[in-house]
Amino acid sequence: MDRARFETLTQEIAAQATVEQLLDLETRTARLLAERVSEALVARRTTAVRQCPHCSGTKIVRHGRDGGGRQRFRCLKTDESHGCGRTFNGLSGTAFARMRKPELWSGYARHLASGTSLTKIVECSDMAISRHTAWRWRHRLLTPLAATKPERLGGVVEADETFFLRSFKGHRGWKRGKAPENRPPRYPGSKALLSGLSHQHVPVLTGIDRDGRCIDKRMDRRSTDQIVAALGGAVAPDSVLCTDGLSAYATLAKTVGAEHRVFDPPEDDWLKKAMGHPSRQKGALGLGRVNGHHERMKTLINRVLRGVSTKFLPNYLAMLRLVCRPPSAPQDTLQAAFAAG
Ligand SMILES: [Zn+2]
Repeated sequence: MDRARFETLTQEIAAQATVEQLLDLETRTARLLAERVSEALVARRTTAVRQCPHCSGTKIVRHGRDGGGRQRFRCLKTDESHGCGRTFNGLSGTAFARMRKPELWSGYARHLASGTSLTKIVECSDMAISRHTAWRWRHRLLTPLAATKPERLGGVVEADETFFLRSFKGHRGWKRGKAPENRPPRYPGSKALLSGLSHQHVPVLTGIDRDGRCIDKRMDRRSTDQIVAALGGAVAPDSVLCTDGLSAYATLAKTVGAEHRVFDPPEDDWLKKAMGHPSRQKGALGLGRVNGHHERMKTLINRVLRGVSTKFLPNYLAMLRLVCRPPSAPQDTLQAAFAAG
């Protein structure tokens, strides 16, 4: 619609429409925007462009349209402005820069939040993308989500760590004769070559509270410094910290000023195994919530995805949080990735 006609219509609506008609218009506009969510996000982002993503210069002028029909900008390069002279659009500098097929983004975000595998996404009739594109889009969306500021935990907070095998899945060195680690390639389901915990394991620390807010952090090694660094700023001072008694958690509780409760793992003798443990009392303190979260983590990473590369583990931890607490609408996932990118 041309600009003059749009202006006339807006003025007519403003002058003549009743309140009921305006409310009806609001509902219809919201529905239309939900259908064209990615275009709406790009347009909103474009109107908010205030500085150059390359040099943070603020002298910006409109510079025609790009191949996709989006508004292009140029950073002015003059003696006063000190700009870089480069061009960009509303998506430059975000996770969506140079990403094609915006009409499929919200559908993809819906698949991602429901934990659909790449094979099923590619087979889906409404997603005309290749498997490689599906994989790249997954990490385009998850990388900014993984980098978002962690939530703040409070009340009863359970903390524990779990371990994954250090993995170089997809590393080209395996096929080119330059193995990334001094060992033969491992196949899905096989175990570590060394017994017990070793450098072949990667620890993941989880803190979770009763409202379901949680922090998952891949650590380089299980040390007091890293545990305190990961959860120290995120646990509220007056909370109750439930752990398995590792000394690092006592230090953590002291650092944040929380009350520390220790729970020993249940003894699994043959009689208890045969008869089952007594049922848990509702509301009783323990480590059930964090253990359940780790079980879902293992299911997604080891069973559904058949192992993931350690390099991408933080992204998949973000995916787990997305799958456990899916947003009410796919545009929320896109919006979060936009905001973080
Ligand atoms: Zn610039």
